[in-house]
Amino acid sequence: MVKPILITLAAALVLAVAWSADQWRQRPDLNHYREYFAPHRDGAAAAPPGAQLEVTYFGTSTLLISDGETALMTDGFFTRPDLGTLLFAGLAPDRQLITRALRQAGITSLAAVIPVHSHHDHAMDAPEVARQTGALLVGSESTANIGRGWGLPEHQIRVPRSGEPLRFGRFTVTLLVSKHAPMPRLIARISGHGKSIEQPLQHPAALGDYKEGGSFAVVIEHPEGNLLVQGSAGYVPGLLQGIQADTVFLGIGGLSKQSAAYREAYYRETVAAVGASRVIPIHWDDFTLPYSTPLQPMNLLINDFTVEMDFILGAAESVAGTQVIILPRWGSSLLL
Ligand SMILES: [Zn+2]
Repeated sequence: MVKPILITLAAALVLAVAWSADQWRQRPDLNHYREYFAPHRDGAAAAPPGAQLEVTYFGTSTLLISDGETALMTDGFFTRPDLGTLLFAGLAPDRQLITRALRQAGITSLAAVIPVHSHHDHAMDAPEVARQTGALLVGSESTANIGRGWGLPEHQIRVPRSGEPLRFGRFTVTLLVSKHAPMPRLIARISGHGKSIEQPLQHPAALGDYKEGGSFAVVIEHPEGNLLVQGSAGYVPGLLQGIQADTVFLGIGGLSKQSAAYREAYYRETVAAVGASRVIPIHWDDFTLPYSTPLQPMNLLINDFTVEMDFILGAAESVAGTQVIILPRWGSSLLL
């Protein structure tokens, strides 16, 4: 009696491992969505002075937003440690790589660098980006503690209250405390979901030391147009009521693991809430691939980009005139 049960269990285990390995190897093809790619522009850091806003994408939720006079960056994540390093080695910003990445992108000075929360794939490099560009590090107390641990001086760190507007040139930036995307229990535990970094973070740090520290919806207002950066696919009902934004940079990573009802509520509470006419998916790429390689959707075991994109396209279609744009490459830029 015991033997057949054991054989069945062993067979199930073998099948599960084989299936997982197969899903791990497979990635959706980004080119399937070619028609939504932004028209090709090389990522020059500066928009013509006084002209439109220019936004440049560097994977995950890292965006450079410039009006030609003032430049802001969300996250500023370039080191992109691989999976082995994430799980088994200490993490620290790669100074030389960041210097190279900033130079390649033509970035010499930034007014602010704004991590959307304190997980490593958003906040780990931000203090070094601030150090190299003179930017103010703006974020949660947890993000401030990453900065302090990296030796960033206190005058270069700002922890605004939720809803407090900050002025940078002609930009007004407001961080609203929102929510992180839901995560499977084990990953939530490893990544400090809902937890804070209470002390200056010492480097090298473990993956689990980069605790979430609260996730923000970042509202960026400018005379040339308003933007919402929703870096993680979470929402707080009613949070964005009364806020207007023309363009939403919408974190979609993890949406494929949620129910259809969740996806619909997320879209309603972000893109629809602010009345945006342009949706630009972000946080869809595999952030364990180095910055110098082409951006690719995550493997199917983690996430299904196709489910997420098809949902966004369907939701956008339901409101006439809503445009969906993909920034497909590291350094793809768009004039808004
Ligand atoms: Zn996160």
